[in-house]
Amino acid sequence: MRAVVVYPGKNRSPELTDVAEPSPAPGQLRVKVLRVGVCGTDREILAGGHGAPPPGQERLVLGHESFGQVEDVAGHADGWSPGDYVVATVRRGCGACAHCAANMSDFCTTGGFVERGILGMDGFLAERYVEEPRYLVRVPPELREVGVLLEPLSVVEKAAQQALASQVRVPGKPTASLEPWQAGPPGWQPERVLVLGAGPIGILGALVLKLAGAGEVLAVERTERPAKRDLLATAGIGYKATGGGPLRDVLAGEQFDLILEATGSSQSVVDALPLLAANSVCCLTGVFPGSAGERSVPLDELLREMLYRNKSIVTTVNSNRSYFERGVQSMVEIERRWPGLLARLITRRMPMERYAEAVEPERDGVKTVVEVGR
Ligand code: BGC
Repeated sequence: MRAVVVYPGKNRSPELTDVAEPSPAPGQLRVKVLRVGVCGTDREILAGGHGAPPPGQERLVLGHESFGQVEDVAGHADGWSPGDYVVATVRRGCGACAHCAANMSDFCTTGGFVERGILGMDGFLAERYVEEPRYLVRVPPELREVGVLLEPLSVVEKAAQQALASQVRVPGKPTASLEPWQAGPPGWQPERVLVLGAGPIGILGALVLKLAGAGEVLAVERTERPAKRDLLATAGIGYKATGGGPLRDVLAGEQFDLILEATGSSQSVVDALPLLAANSVCCLTGVFPGSAGERSVPLDELLREMLYRNKSIVTTVNSNRSYFERGVQSMVEIERRWPGLLARLITRRMPMERYAEAVEPERDGVKTVVEVGR
């Protein structure tokens, strides 16, 4: 079967090539791949900054944002049928730590996990793959056209949950009957949210936070892209281009209760931290590529301001099955509230033969998907 393979850490271009047809081991299902999304992590792997092939191999089948259809249930009676639409989770646990044992490999403590299409295990940019049902998340047929967005959506489901949950640290308004640190009437609400970056993660994050009840949500990015402004406006989300100017000037005098970072740019984090309101949280999702070089940052001043007003930073990576399941519900809700909006995020569709172009960043678009099967 055909697959797009890369050679992590080797100075060698990706290839569309023939690889062995996978055959399901007992208990595995065989899935026909319909499409695969491309993301910044894929480009990082291609640039040699991240990723590893499976042990003993040089090449890695790329692709971790999958969407497919069960083809062979291999004797599975437990509710699976050929034709079911599925998205596979990405990380497989280390087999040693308690979090991995409890299906929370996104919180693995040993670092001994693998990630399909990224780290030590082949991915999904191939005609077929095999997988255990516990790593497959069913997608209802009405989400067929947009289900490929579920993996990045799961990442921001986790990010939003982590940021919001971390804010239990802010006590409720003190009342006569409650100690100040006990939960009272909410002491904190995400009234004003700032999203740094309007790529797929930023846009999906803005939508998820909107669903979570955030008041005003504003997404910022460097270069003005009118199509993104329109897309976000559909969901009542604001949009501003910085034009490369410092955020503190572009958003002078503004304060935010929650900042979701989705740029992978450490400079944008440094610029945004002073915009945090008292008792607020900044959640980092970007995988910082380490190419920004060294620079000096007024760290004492930044941290002092954060400390004086109880501001926090949380970080988040990957997502476990529970966030994929939540993501399916969010997709249904987004489709109900803003019909057709998710489909507008898929701005480029390419056949497998054009994999080299597909992994190039898209100037005005949001998400590129590679069409694999039908
Ligand atoms: C993927 C995550 C993964 C992370 C780091 C992201 O692009 O969505 O599943 O954990 O890269 O490898």
